[in-house]
Amino acid sequence: NDKLAAVDPEVAAAIGAELSRQQTTLEMIASENFAPEAVLEAQGSVLTNKYAEGYPGRRYYGGCEHVDVIEQLAIDRVKKLFGASFANVQPHSGAQANAAAMFALLKPGDTIMGLDLAHGGHLTHGMRINFSGKLYTVVPYHVSDTDHRVDMDEVARLAREHRPQLIIAGWSAYPRQLDFARFREIADEVGAYLMVDMAHFAGLVAAGLHPNPVPHAHVVTTTTHKTLGGPRGGVILSSDEGFTKKFNSAVFPGQQGGPLEHVIAGKAVAFKIAAGEEFADRQRRTLEGARILAERLLAADAAEAGVQLVSGGTDVHLVLVDLRNSELDGKQAEDRLHSIGITVNRNAVPNDPRPPMVTSGLRIGTPALATRGFGKDEFTEVADIIAEALKPGYDEAKLRARVEALAAKHPLYPNR
Ligand code: PLP
Repeated sequence: NDKLAAVDPEVAAAIGAELSRQQTTLEMIASENFAPEAVLEAQGSVLTNKYAEGYPGRRYYGGCEHVDVIEQLAIDRVKKLFGASFANVQPHSGAQANAAAMFALLKPGDTIMGLDLAHGGHLTHGMRINFSGKLYTVVPYHVSDTDHRVDMDEVARLAREHRPQLIIAGWSAYPRQLDFARFREIADEVGAYLMVDMAHFAGLVAAGLHPNPVPHAHVVTTTTHKTLGGPRGGVILSSDEGFTKKFNSAVFPGQQGGPLEHVIAGKAVAFKIAAGEEFADRQRRTLEGARILAERLLAADAAEAGVQLVSGGTDVHLVLVDLRNSELDGKQAEDRLHSIGITVNRNAVPNDPRPPMVTSGLRIGTPALATRGFGKDEFTEVADIIAEALKPGYDEAKLRARVEALAAKHPLYPNR
């Protein structure tokens, strides 16, 4: 970008280097994706200049006639996409969507239940030094030791014992689907609200490839930048219009000031794209890629290197590799893949014996590569490259060349 380079060559150079990193390596961080150029354009627009505290038609600032159009489009589109009757598109991030939803439904000191961070939950689901752990009394639930699925009997037992005001269903690192109906049954039995945080799998839901939590939950939150493939941000949804005032006033003025209308424009564009057939095809390839990855990593030769999968496979867009029987820990495996041009993150496995900065696992996701155009053949090749890299005696130069060939086959942002 000429103007940026003239004003600030240092920032321009770092952005250029980051573009080049994204183009020449394979992005497999499960929470990442590549926003379409149309979204980048909306997000880099003059909308960033506008204050618009309030909501469409009810603003505390003048000159909001055009941002009103944009925010209303985003609201209408996301409601239609997920079959919700209420949407707030202003949360700046997934964490802020969760903070606002909890602020609307709870008082400080109330009890919440969420999946333990060490078992795949998110920081905002009750981690000790997160706002959720500081403001609320947290009762974490877990995955079972045997099949690594969320232990619904434990959820029911803990709910009866602790009578929480809110149960959170959702995850950041879990390779299976949740039973939303059962969660709601348990919430109803103890008089709790049910919040589903679908940040990770919202794109799959939009494409009809994953059960939709909206009919089951009192409130559903999501990010817009993971499988959904839009700009970085958050959304709150509900099937119950009765919550409109509670959630809207929890976001503004409860938690935020001026909304990011440039990001909301990017969200509107992303929701339009997510309603299309090309997006559905991308989500199908995302799931197919994760299944292929699971199959190839479980193949005998990788298993000999001590590579196992949490829960033995996947139903979603990611696999969780369990390296407890490998010579590599999570950090070493992440570094090794980085050295051949594949970006993943190390991740704790349930009951991980190693500390969080090291871990015994990897979280590997397929959304970004599906966006890049990867299909069956490319996912098979990348799975084989990863399996090879996790074995002793791997050939770094050879594997890096195979990664570069895959990246070249599916150019990213070719006009940038
Ligand atoms: N909820 C879940 C389940 C997540 O995985 C994440 C992010 O990783 C978030 C919320 C938070 O989103 P953000 O990083 O936009 O605050």
